[in-house]
Amino acid sequence: MISRRVFTYGLGALPLIYSAASSSKNISESSKTPNISEAEKSKHEKFMKMAIEQAKNNKTYPFGAVIVNEETGEVMAEGVNSGAMNPINHGEIVAINNFVDKHGNSGFKSLTLYTTGEPCSMCMSAIAWCGIPRVVWASSIEKIRASGIGQISISALEVAEKAKEFYQPDSLIAGVLASESDKLFDQRHNK
Ligand SMILES: [Zn+2]
Repeated sequence: MISRRVFTYGLGALPLIYSAASSSKNISESSKTPNISEAEKSKHEKFMKMAIEQAKNNKTYPFGAVIVNEETGEVMAEGVNSGAMNPINHGEIVAINNFVDKHGNSGFKSLTLYTTGEPCSMCMSAIAWCGIPRVVWASSIEKIRASGIGQISISALEVAEKAKEFYQPDSLIAGVLASESDKLFDQRHNK
């Protein structure tokens, strides 16, 4: 069985491993940082930079997301939090809606979603409903909360785990360019 993993990389981050192969407890924490190739790392950082650029369009709630076709590397959709228009317009939701507007309600399996903040329970549920198998985020829910933005205390991993009946992600990767993204939360307006 292919091992599905959640992990962080970078200094000081606690790596998280999500393994669908484990029968009793699917989410476990590990002190080991799994190997990630330089090519893969730079790919993730390239797209996370784009998500960070999106996030800069909202200086108060710097949640930006891009959705990429894993096979072609094409950026398929993007979004930034627009909660001022609608409270559920989180960056990931805006990006998913942008994807469906542009490409229709199909093709989710080939996608990777990059987002500056760990998906909240609403967004991670939306990702699960879409069946997007790869999610990469920068800042943790804890970090976002520390910046003064209230958070629902359910991790993205927990949501994925609870959705396993129909959602088995290939990889959930935390902490990519977190220091860069954390700065946007530290320095956000109207704190
Ligand atoms: Zn959200």
